Amino acid sequence: MKWSLILAEELVREIAGPESLRLLRLIFTKENLNEFELADNLKVNINQARHCLYELQKYNLISSTRKKDKQKGWYVYYWTFDHKKARDLLLKLKQQRLDKLRKEVSREKSGNYLTCLQDGTVVSANDAMETNFRCPVCEEMLIYKRDEKRIKTKDQEIENIQNLIEEGIEIPEPPKKRRKKTTKKKTKRKPAKRTRKKATKKRKPAKRTRKKSKPKRKPAKRRAKRKPAARKRKPAKKTPTRRRKR
Ligand SMILES: [Zn+2]
Repeated sequence: MKWSLILAEELVREIAGPESLRLLRLIFTKENLNEFELADNLKVNINQARHCLYELQKYNLISSTRKKDKQKGWYVYYWTFDHKKARDLLLKLKQQRLDKLRKEVSREKSGNYLTCLQDGTVVSANDAMETNFRCPVCEEMLIYKRDEKRIKTKDQEIENIQNLIEEGIEIPEPPKKRRKKTTKKKTKRKPAKRTRKKATKKRKPAKRTRKKSKPKRKPAKRRAKRKPAARKRKPAKKTPTRRRKR
């Protein structure tokens, strides 16, 4: 089976709220979505949008990069949906559902359990006695009669999940190729920056040589100023002559 928005929706419906489902539809085919633009598109405020993002981030279904907004001075996060992790989580939940269904069906078929015709809850005879043979979920009367229809639908679901797990979910290649291209572009940009730095380095020493040629005249003036300072010390030596007077 090929990975699709329908499968991703099935996953998000199970783990997060309806707002996150709307977010998924925006983020599914695009990369590096600005969180403020996401909030605008969802018609919610930034905190509500972030709540939806965190619901998906809890399961590592989305990843982010941050960039500093030069005008506002704060960091803005750009979000990308992780299709591979979403696929893996969906398969994990499918496996859990499969294990649960197999247990329920084997109990129902054994006849040692009571069933609720209302919602399909299966309860052991001992547990049923504790609740006076009423369903612990909806309080409907529990019955011993096997619900053949419910067993059939559960058997069908078990078969569907088994087939899905055996076949696996293939993630289409186009989104992968796009990611590789973007990483290649980044590596190409780096050498370009290095050549610019070298060019600026070459210019700087040229400016320094000009500056150095001018100050050469200034030390000559300073030396002239120091000479009077040396003369001032000489009168200090005259003080011992005052001691001679005392
Ligand atoms: Zn019930």
